[in-house]
Amino acid sequence: MFHIGIVESIHQNAIKIIENNDNYSFEIIQDIEENNLINKLKKCDAIALRTAKLTEKIINNCEKLKIVSRHGVGYDNVDIHSLNKKGIPLTITIHANAITVAEHVIAMMFYFNKKLHDFDRSVRENQWDKLRIIDQQIITINSELFNKNILILGFGRIGKELSKRCKAFGMQVFVYDPYIDKQAIEDYSLKKINTIEEGIALADYLSIHIPLSSETKNLIDNKIIRKMKKNAFIINTARGGIINENDLNEALNNNVIAGAGIDVFSEEPPNVDNPLLKNPKVVFTPHTAALTEECWLRMGQETIRNIVDFFDNNLNKKVIVNKNSI
Ligand code: NAD
Repeated sequence: MFHIGIVESIHQNAIKIIENNDNYSFEIIQDIEENNLINKLKKCDAIALRTAKLTEKIINNCEKLKIVSRHGVGYDNVDIHSLNKKGIPLTITIHANAITVAEHVIAMMFYFNKKLHDFDRSVRENQWDKLRIIDQQIITINSELFNKNILILGFGRIGKELSKRCKAFGMQVFVYDPYIDKQAIEDYSLKKINTIEEGIALADYLSIHIPLSSETKNLIDNKIIRKMKKNAFIINTARGGIINENDLNEALNNNVIAGAGIDVFSEEPPNVDNPLLKNPKVVFTPHTAALTEECWLRMGQETIRNIVDFFDNNLNKKVIVNKNSI
């Protein structure tokens, strides 16, 4: 029998996959403090992991661990070098959340250019003309996605799904991803951009879909932001830390760019003193870009399914991050 440590709760219907299966036992571990995880995961054959940190110390103390199954696709919370040393595969849920995050980006773009929240308030407050007419002149505060330029940073699963949706709105889509061939981008009828500077100078929207790594930490800083258009928006649903939050805050305060949509922070939850939180030009969501009911279920099922497939010798290699370690 294999014992699975499920670190933080997942969708109830995902647990049903192993609930009545004699090959598996499981426990749900809510306390993600390192010492507790060292203790609880010691005898686990598999770990289903949401956002808790899986450190070197925890991994080295696991005596029976054979697979780590990440609930999601980012894995910056896992010490992958320690897994590699022990030859333990790390899987991710590659089929679960790309469309969900892409839809969230579209919602953030509409937040800025359709102003539904402001119009809604004006109607409720009996201010019918407040956002329509000033001095008997019609004013227009909302705009269209049609014909606007978007730079998609990172052309992986999410970047590709986003590009299709942007094309459907008639946007001009530019892609910066030095690791993807020009042809693969042109196959989607999109334009490959060779340097990030060239791309951001064109962008009305910049949407970030790259992993957080030593290469991408603080990639979007004041040197980059100051090359953007004044009317541009940055949307980050990838990972906090890719944008330098202080530089973003300063740029917004100095009207260098128009606004930002932020789902992810360098520290989560963000410190109450983080000045960005008070910035009215930002719309925030609490790392919920992938948290729809549908995606929550898919991520949970895929997380557990990857563990079961592994023990059944039936695991799709595509879901393994560290293919060389096994
Ligand atoms: P992916 O691995 O399919 O794609 C990432 C792409 O980024 C790859 O094509 C890669 O070549 C490219 N890339 C890497 N470094 C780059 C760089 N320096 N410049 C430009 N491109 C670079 O990943 P994905 O499934 O599309 O997810 C992207 C990121 O989104 C994940 O790493 C994860 O952290 C984040 N994410 C967040 C949420 C959320 O809830 N907010 C949900 C899912 C994923």
